[in-house]
Amino acid sequence: MSRIQHIVIVGAGQAGARAAQALRAADTDLQITLIGEETAPPYERPALSKAVLLGEASPDSALVETSTYWSTQRIDLRTGVRVEAIAPHEGYVQLADGSRLQGDQFLLTTGSRVRPLPCAPTPRAGVYYLRTLDDCARLSTEMQAGRSMVIIGGGFIGLEVASSACARGMQVSVLEREATLLARALPAALADQIAQLHRAKGVTLHTHAQVSSIEPTEDGLGVSAVRLTDGTRIAAEVVVIGIGIIPNTELAEAAGAQSADGVVVDAYGRTTVSGLWAAGDVTNHPNAVLGRRVRLESWQNAQNQAITVAQNMLLANPVAYAEVPWFWSDQHGVNIQVAGAWEPTAQTVWRGAPNAERALAFALVEGRVVCAVALNQGAEIRFAKKLIESKRVVSAEQLADPTLKLKELLAGPPSTSTH
Ligand code: NAP
Repeated sequence: MSRIQHIVIVGAGQAGARAAQALRAADTDLQITLIGEETAPPYERPALSKAVLLGEASPDSALVETSTYWSTQRIDLRTGVRVEAIAPHEGYVQLADGSRLQGDQFLLTTGSRVRPLPCAPTPRAGVYYLRTLDDCARLSTEMQAGRSMVIIGGGFIGLEVASSACARGMQVSVLEREATLLARALPAALADQIAQLHRAKGVTLHTHAQVSSIEPTEDGLGVSAVRLTDGTRIAAEVVVIGIGIIPNTELAEAAGAQSADGVVVDAYGRTTVSGLWAAGDVTNHPNAVLGRRVRLESWQNAQNQAITVAQNMLLANPVAYAEVPWFWSDQHGVNIQVAGAWEPTAQTVWRGAPNAERALAFALVEGRVVCAVALNQGAEIRFAKKLIESKRVVSAEQLADPTLKLKELLAGPPSTSTH
């Protein structure tokens, strides 16, 4: 293989930025171009529904690096530039201005976009989606004490915004179409604890809520209410929609890459098209720890998969990306951490009695921990990750016994197969 001289990264979010840094660390001579459609330099999203939204942290605090960093690292960061097509075989990307940029290898870190609510497909006065720094700035100005906010979607965005809006003194309602909040990520009993926490802070929760329309004010300049299919009308001065995301797979698909709930990559980050790699939210990748393919929408995956894949682009013997998935959320001062992936059919084991301020639950499949969820017990998650990774067989009684430290379970005799 001739030496790679120029790598073009399409997508300048957290994954693209971390990939560019990893490439520079691995090769001081490599030409690196990082192209992003947004005008902002690369930034991370966790604070956009929390400290930045509340005005407690500046938008600049979300930046991956200062804006001058990229040029000092000789990374050609091009923001506000849309890539129209990638042609890995011909060795170029096509930009929106009609020009072509040559490259030897291409990394796709295009992330995802918000899933639109059919009755409000685009933002309009009083109706907000939250994904970008611009979205955050617009929403933040609307968050004033005494105003009413209706949030459509009881997922992580919805609940973190609910927490922030409460902190601003707003009257908040959350509408979730499922029976419980966070139904895909958490066991129902823990979701109930989180629901109680929100209720205790004054949030009104509506589950099984199907939105039929968002009603404008009489002058058409804002919103007045959200209407449900059962006729219920919930008054709202501000509406926030957080009903999930859609991976931006179109460029990869047009380049001929396979896509199935994300761009299909192998454990090294290679798509099905030679010369085209992908990392972050946009990928559907095999996870050796979970033993199945996943698409992960998390800070950890955006960062660590991107670093591994970028390094692999320069290696003769690439390294598989295989980490225990992990993410966190902060709501009303309670820290929630999830390691592994929740499986509804798994046996749920509680360690101690759960309450809205403190809980630890494990999902056990055939005696092995596949997921751990902690409320205000982040320190335990470190050991839970190791338990998940080790695939060690443990009993529900051991996990449930708070006098037995998780660390001790890890130090026990080697695991035995249940098969
Ligand atoms: P999400 O976590 O997927 O939650 C969306 C929720 O909205 C789901 O419970 C979904 O139910 C529900 N929903 C879907 N359509 C609905 C409708 N028409 N009416 C009412 N509810 C509806 O997505 P998100 O909260 O929008 O967050 C977007 C992305 O940002 C996700 O990738 C999320 O993980 C990420 N994020 C992460 C964090 C964190 O890690 N702390 C914080 C904020 C955001 P179904 O399950 O039935 O679709």
